Amino acid sequence: MAISKGRWVGPIWDTHIHLDLQARGLSAAQDFSNAGGTHICLVHKPTFSTGLPDTIERVDVAYRKTLDLADQVRRKIGLDVRVVLGPHPVVWEKQIHTLGMENSTQLHLDSVELALNYCAEGKAVALGEVGRPHYSVSEEIWSAANTQLETVMRMASQASVPIQLHVEDNGAQTNVELANICDRAGLSRSCAVHHYASANVSDTFTHGLSSSVSMAKNSVSDLLKTFRHCTTTWTMETDYLDDPNRPGAVLGPKTVPKRTQQLVDELLQVLTQNEAEELLMHVHSIWPSRLYGEIDP
Ligand SMILES: [Zn+2]
Repeated sequence: MAISKGRWVGPIWDTHIHLDLQARGLSAAQDFSNAGGTHICLVHKPTFSTGLPDTIERVDVAYRKTLDLADQVRRKIGLDVRVVLGPHPVVWEKQIHTLGMENSTQLHLDSVELALNYCAEGKAVALGEVGRPHYSVSEEIWSAANTQLETVMRMASQASVPIQLHVEDNGAQTNVELANICDRAGLSRSCAVHHYASANVSDTFTHGLSSSVSMAKNSVSDLLKTFRHCTTTWTMETDYLDDPNRPGAVLGPKTVPKRTQQLVDELLQVLTQNEAEELLMHVHSIWPSRLYGEIDP
């Protein structure tokens, strides 16, 4: 029984979290574990504060740090850690102004290829976060961002690797545009995970993209209104940043376990215990395993 006395005791997976050894690092992972968390997608964090890598060799050094951190979390905290590696679209946009459009784009695509190589070796499970800037940019940069995203999606599709998308928040309009780019690139929409997604998981809103739902306060009630209208997959995330300069700017590492328990309370008002268990097994095990690999038995 994964629900015991009204509490979820099954797996709990945060599908988008960052950790930083210069910040809380392992102790944040310990908090997640203590709260009942079992699995994380550890997403590569760009080094905005300490300088951005400007060669592929430096990108590789940064990727290896993330892979090494994942190992430490596995060994010392005992979590199941899946690494998501890739070049951030904001890094690309910033580097246009220092390296130039051509060099920044080349570095971005080389970084995608390198991340896909790590996926092929089994060291990472998805490409991310990739996407397009979430703030307004010039028409030239916006157009280049969309062309580049289509190339990135095509590369992911050819490698059979799912992606986590960092994009602007323009509701269903953003999703329909992303879905169209997926279709052109030959990437299955369900393999394109909208990170920091709205808790509206209905197909009419997501257009078939998968959602890694940001579990802010209202997320539980929004999920309750829409989960029956989702035919793709959704999971839960914090996007915990582990940034010492912005403590409390984002959801903390205990949030997904906490919201899961709140959701159980609410689900048991509208579903049988078996139905609630089945739904939460999908959210915390079956769907993320489908995207990021099989769960350890
Ligand atoms: Zn993130």
